Amino acid sequence: MTTALYPGSFDPVTNGHLDIATRAAAIFDRLTVAVFDAPAKNLLFTTKERMDMATEALKGLPNVNVTSFTGLTVDFAREIGASVLVRGLRVMSDFEMELQMAMVNRQLAPGIEVVCLMSSLQYSFLSSSLIKEIAKLGGSIDNMVPEHVARALRQKFPPNSDPDFIPRHLGG
Ligand code: ADP
Repeated sequence: MTTALYPGSFDPVTNGHLDIATRAAAIFDRLTVAVFDAPAKNLLFTTKERMDMATEALKGLPNVNVTSFTGLTVDFAREIGASVLVRGLRVMSDFEMELQMAMVNRQLAPGIEVVCLMSSLQYSFLSSSLIKEIAKLGGSIDNMVPEHVARALRQKFPPNSDPDFIPRHLGG
């Protein structure tokens, strides 16, 4: 039985992430989607919020579970018995970063393979940061994230909010 780990910030989970998770779940016996607790970037959502949104979005897939982790991804992979790390590739610039990470992870844990899935065309321009920016400026994000995520974003950026308002997790 092959367990795969799909790690990321998921701040918030997007339709692009869900596309990768759904396709990975069809390839591997079990897939753990793991929300990285403390990435080196400003977050809009707490770890619990990020986990809850991903759990709700993926609840229809029986072989997928959502959790959070801290520390090295490969250590967490070993802890849960995962032999594959799943990553999504959108554009060439993703490739450089993913290649570097894959090389480092292979040094750290030679037994763990990195499998990159190419983004589906309609999601190849989507990123969590772009979606947050659109939501902040009051644009429609309806086809980019599930409905419950769009609702959560609207709560963070109410329509009449001060444009200079910076939520606590973004460092304000
Ligand atoms: P990280 O902070 O690790 O970049 P993200 O949550 O932004 O975490 O992304 C997790 C993984 O999902 C990464 O491999 C990223 O390239 C991939 N990903 C993000 N957005 C998309 C998308 N629209 N299509 C395909 N893969 C994506």
